[in-house]
Amino acid sequence: MAQKIVVGNWKMNLELNEAKELIQGIKNTQDDVRVIVFPSSVFINAVSEGKNEGVEVGAQNFHTEPKGAFTGELSISQLRSSGATVGLIGHSERRAYFSEGNELLKMKVDTAMANNFDFIFCCGEPLMIREAGKELEFVKMQLEESLLHLTKEQMMGKVIAYEPVWAIGTGVTASFDQAESMHRSIRTWIHERYDAETANNVSILYGGSCNQANANELFSCPNVDGGLIGGASLKADSFCTIIDSY
Ligand code: PEP
Repeated sequence: MAQKIVVGNWKMNLELNEAKELIQGIKNTQDDVRVIVFPSSVFINAVSEGKNEGVEVGAQNFHTEPKGAFTGELSISQLRSSGATVGLIGHSERRAYFSEGNELLKMKVDTAMANNFDFIFCCGEPLMIREAGKELEFVKMQLEESLLHLTKEQMMGKVIAYEPVWAIGTGVTASFDQAESMHRSIRTWIHERYDAETANNVSILYGGSCNQANANELFSCPNVDGGLIGGASLKADSFCTIIDSY
C-alpha cells in the first residue's frame, strides 16, 4: 500500500517568528499519515526544533554538489545537518523561474539517491498543454526523463506530486476526474515500467489549490495518496483540517 502523505510547502513566506509559531500549531493526529513541511531553508533548523512528533521537515531545494564554491547554494549534507529529512525536486516554480529542466532534475534525483536523501518529485503540465489535450504525454515525459531511470528497488516507496501548473496558487482545482485520470495514468506507467508491487508502493500526491474545503473529495480519488499544499498550509488550522481529512 502507498503511504498517505500530506505536505505543506511554505515557499518564500513567513519570517522566523511566524515559522516557529506555525510549526507549533501543526499536529499530526493520524497514525498512518506522513506529514512534512517545507519551510524556507534558513528556518529548517528552528522549525525542526519546534516541530511536534509525527511531523517532518524538508528542504524546498538542494544543490547537486556536496560542497564548494557555489555561492548561495545548499548541499544535502548541510540541509540534513539542519534537520531536513527530505527534499523537493522539480516544483513548477523552480522549473519556470529557475530554468530547472528535466536533465538537471534527473541529476538531483541521482544526487538524492547517492546521499540516501528522501525526496518528492513534482510534475505537472501548464495550461497550454492541457488545453491542447497533451497533458498525459507531457507528464509522462517529465517522469521518463528525470525519474523512471531508477531501478525497481530504488522506486519502491518513492513519492510523486502531480501538480497541474494551472492549479497552483490560482484557486482553480483539478476536478475529481482530472486528478484521478492523471494519477491512474502515472500508476499505470510505473506498473508498465516496473511491476504492480512497485506501482502500488509509490505515493502519488495531488497539488494545486487543495484546501480544507476540497481536500476530502480529492483525497477520496482511489489513486490520490495525499496532497502537496501551498497557500492553505500557511495557517495551522487549515493545514490540520486537511491532515484530518484522512
Ligand atoms: C504548491 O506549492 O505546490 C501548491 C500546490 O500551492 P497551492 O496549494 O497554493 O496551489
